Amino acid sequence: VIELGQPEHSLITTCAYCGVGCGFKAEMKGNTVVRMTPWKDGKANEGHSCIKGRFAWSYATHKDRVTRPMVRAKISDPWREVSWDEAIAFAAGEFKRIQAQHGTDAVGGITSSRCTNEEVYLVQKLVRAGFGNNNVDTCARVCHSPTGYGMGVTLGTSAGTQTFKSVEEADVILVMGANPTDAHPVFASRLKMRLRQGARLIVIDPRCIDLVDGPHVRAQHHLALRPGSNVAMITALAHVVVTEGRVNEAYVAERCDTKSFHDWREFVARPENSPEAFEAATGVPAADVRAAARLYASGPNSAIYYGLGVTEHAQGSTTVIGICNLAMACGMFSREGVGVSPLRGQNNVQGSCDMGSFPHELPGYRHVSDAAVRGSFEAAWGVPLQAEPGLRIPNMFEAALAGTFKGLYCVGEDIVQSDPNTQHVAAALEAMECVVVQDIFINETAKYAHVLLPGSSFMEKDGTFTNAERRISRVRQLMPPLSGLGDWEATQRLAIALGYPMSYTHPEQIMREIAALTPSFSGVSYDKIERLGSVQWPCNESTLEAGTALMHIDRFVRGKGRFFNTQYVPTSEKVTRKFPLLLTTGRILSQYNVGAQTRRTANNQWHHEDKLDIHPHDAEERGIQQGDWVGIASRAGQTVLRAEISERMQPGVVYTTFHFPESGANVITTDSSDWATNCPEYKVTAVQVSKVSEK
Ligand code: SF4
Repeated sequence: VIELGQPEHSLITTCAYCGVGCGFKAEMKGNTVVRMTPWKDGKANEGHSCIKGRFAWSYATHKDRVTRPMVRAKISDPWREVSWDEAIAFAAGEFKRIQAQHGTDAVGGITSSRCTNEEVYLVQKLVRAGFGNNNVDTCARVCHSPTGYGMGVTLGTSAGTQTFKSVEEADVILVMGANPTDAHPVFASRLKMRLRQGARLIVIDPRCIDLVDGPHVRAQHHLALRPGSNVAMITALAHVVVTEGRVNEAYVAERCDTKSFHDWREFVARPENSPEAFEAATGVPAADVRAAARLYASGPNSAIYYGLGVTEHAQGSTTVIGICNLAMACGMFSREGVGVSPLRGQNNVQGSCDMGSFPHELPGYRHVSDAAVRGSFEAAWGVPLQAEPGLRIPNMFEAALAGTFKGLYCVGEDIVQSDPNTQHVAAALEAMECVVVQDIFINETAKYAHVLLPGSSFMEKDGTFTNAERRISRVRQLMPPLSGLGDWEATQRLAIALGYPMSYTHPEQIMREIAALTPSFSGVSYDKIERLGSVQWPCNESTLEAGTALMHIDRFVRGKGRFFNTQYVPTSEKVTRKFPLLLTTGRILSQYNVGAQTRRTANNQWHHEDKLDIHPHDAEERGIQQGDWVGIASRAGQTVLRAEISERMQPGVVYTTFHFPESGANVITTDSSDWATNCPEYKVTAVQVSKVSEK
């Protein structure tokens, strides 16, 4: 404040980091933000914030920002700064040439949670109407796509069932594969407050995270399972519920599909699905699993919160299904204090999925093969649409290496640093003929780009983000785009240059189109958000004015809740003599994802390198001391990190964050992925760790 001066005016906006979606009052002097004050009327945060949202926004004006479009014919050439017109014409010309030579499906687009709903909608529209195919995907592919699948098939829609505030009514809280203290700090505070009031806690996580024994909180049960055994664990918990007569029979009879329930009950009751039978797989004593299952089933209100430790596995979708099975069997839906809530990692993961950026779904989670739905978009957009799903991100890489996918428009997503098996991703990009990156910095992916379009930070955007509670909040422009053009304007110009007309003059018009074409959004408008602060989808004529806080009250979205058997299949990432440890990954409080934003703020002081957490026994066995450099090798690749010897690890499991490109965490992770969605198995990689003399 001393350096920047006293604020003269303020605007309400939304944090651009995690899926909590905290509201902030941006206090400003002219176009300069002086400070970000947590907004007391923000329903997701009620005046609270963490060190990312409150302090880590100066990256928006960092000297590394790209402000001029750039092009080059080959990636070995130096960048050449050009006008917007020249860059857009170059990109469109290349995409058109590729499609003429290699076919309509030889190009595609990737959008991300860095974008607003309106921007995501426009990118998928460009791909479907401008490119004429369904080759569009989003960064949710690598985080919560199993949530989309698992919650979709069991409950009928891919979204958290509760508000964050609902945790205040929970008696038992089950946190699985999530570390809210670091990754969702404002929600973690709410959860801890409830624990201090007497709610009991079950943590299912390989690591002894802060919630297990942190200040003022203590988990009743910490099920420290082996990475890769989630399905065994969730099935074992269900076994106890079923075989000990703890099913909420009345709820199941009224609300669930009876046939699938009976099949599932017979399946989980088998002896091979008992906690005792799974002890070897999970590494957790059966008695602890039984006690945790009894606690969850007894509630009376039990709520499940989960994160990427559930989804980023070869059986990620199966675990999400198993979580929904368990909650349905115990009657833990349809009221406050219960439910299943995926903790979305990024600010707009929910929104990017809602807006139709998956290759098989149009906005509102409607399959592209549905002729009636497709017809409504065709009428509005004036073009025929493909009825076949397009390529997912990993399929794009495979097709590029096979020579059939040649051009990519990538907005706000650093696929080289964030996707697994970096070498594979880089090779795929090198095989393409035109890569267009739209981003705020020259990121790792931009090193393989032919066109770099300057993106805008959240401070330069007008639009909306949707948080993990389905809450749609406004992002307000605090300063003009540094490049002169907003992200949506760049997408629009590219569409026009491709020959597909667009004529929006403000993101509000895009939201009007979304609302007109998407039944669950038909009641959403900027005017209403202005008045109410935020709304939650579904928001239409059959809901309250502010939308839907609590889902599945009288019936599940799909009608009757459906059970599916969850057959445990051990991951192919097994420990061997060559790779005797299992690596898992996660985030830390002060940094965020690939670090592009937080590394360029003062937050970098708190955590300025990724480290490898290793149990004292594993360290001693390898002669590793605190702070030593250690080499980590997997079947995919190798890297070097500094060792952090930690009792919070279990023997045989090591852990690192992935915030720094030079650490190369994803050089080691493999391309093993979820059977249903291709979400990468980031959370289990068999590795060897050894002491090395230097980095
Ligand atoms: Fe931003 Fe999440 Fe922190 Fe809230 S909890 S300030 S949304 S990073």
